[in-house]
Amino acid sequence: MTQPRDEIGTLAAAFGSSAADLKDTQDKLLTYGRGLETLIAERTAELAQEKSNLEVKVEERTADLRRANHELKTQAAELSRRNQEISLFSKMNDFLQTSTTEAEAYAVISDVVTQLFPEDSGAVFVLSASRSMLEAAAVWGPLPPANVIFPPNECWGHRRGQAHVALNNERQCPHVNDDGHMYVCLPLLAQGETLGVLHILDGAAKNGPADEARMHDKSRLAKILADNIGLGIANLKLRESMRSLSIRDPLTDLFNRRYMEEALGQELHRSKRADLQLAVIMIDIDHFKSYNDNFGHDAGDAVLRALGAFLKKHVRGSDVACRYGGEEFILILSPVTVEGARQRAEKIREGAALLSVTHANRDLGAITISLGVATFPDHADAATAIIKAADVALYQAKRGGRNQVVLAAEKLAGAAS
Ligand code: GH3
Ligand code: MG
Ligand code: MG
Repeated sequence: MTQPRDEIGTLAAAFGSSAADLKDTQDKLLTYGRGLETLIAERTAELAQEKSNLEVKVEERTADLRRANHELKTQAAELSRRNQEISLFSKMNDFLQTSTTEAEAYAVISDVVTQLFPEDSGAVFVLSASRSMLEAAAVWGPLPPANVIFPPNECWGHRRGQAHVALNNERQCPHVNDDGHMYVCLPLLAQGETLGVLHILDGAAKNGPADEARMHDKSRLAKILADNIGLGIANLKLRESMRSLSIRDPLTDLFNRRYMEEALGQELHRSKRADLQLAVIMIDIDHFKSYNDNFGHDAGDAVLRALGAFLKKHVRGSDVACRYGGEEFILILSPVTVEGARQRAEKIREGAALLSVTHANRDLGAITISLGVATFPDHADAATAIIKAADVALYQAKRGGRNQVVLAAEKLAGAAS
């Protein structure tokens, strides 16, 4: 019966060996666990390092992106500003091309300059016909120039024929009274001729170098503006003189016959619509031929010029004075009554008799004129018929002994105008 004891012994032995195995396994596990912990700690540290590296990289990239974004935004703003400037310049040039008077052109210029330099003040000074004065044609802004007329040598921009940027008080133009602000004066040039000056006074009080850079920037833009304004004004002057050549008589500067016929048609139309009266006064110099014969053709021209200047001075805003041809003149008066027209004709006759004309130091003697007056609707309804009626009345004035006014007597029929 030893077998059971042996079984126990075997069991005990087996248990003993298992316990040892277990211990061994446990030790191994512990060692493994410690190794794992170290590994995890190392990996964690590595990951933390990688994370931190990544964060730095992300931060750098973000800063790069932010910088790029800022630059793009600045460039976009600059581009949009440039676009706006270009569209303003082209708008200004379009308007200057279609302006028919200088007043219209200067209103356009003021409008564009105030949009380009909204904080600033300034003026466009234009050289007078005699070139002895620079005179403000447009002023704008909260600090408009106090000197609106001055001799050209009081402006450095004009004298030097190039932009004068006044940053400090050195070389201040005498025409600028304000020494608390920077300004730029730019000559307005066209085909090598100086027409005037563009003056822009900075809106901010003088500050220092940062502002000076801004002012240089401003003067670059102002230079392009001045070039455009110069060309615009030159074109306008050219158009004006071409138009004037086509509608004015060069000797007397009164309107010519072609213009008078056009104006009479329009005035008559207006008078009919508004139910108003209109008068045509036809004037002819008495014995004009004798001036030519006695003093020469140039003396005759001097008489025509003198009477032309007198008539120009005598007419009112809504009247039209023209040289009809030779020594004949026509005045269109509207609105006017028949008696009013007759009295105006009488005054012109009296005034002309008082003119004293000299030529080559010789007194040409008194001028007398004969005048025929016809009116709408009393004497005629159509343009040609009114002129004809005035001509008939003038003929009667000549027959009646000259130096007199004759009012048309009867109504003349004529084609409708
Ligand atoms: P009346 O009192 O009848 O009007 O006599 P008149 O001498 O004024 O008229 P007439 O028609 O006989 O002479 C007009 C002269 O005017 C003839 C012409 O040579 C001259 N004449 C026309 N145009 C001009 C011009 O532009 N300059 C000059 N100097 N003479 C001109
Ligand atoms: Mg005549
Ligand atoms: Mg005559």
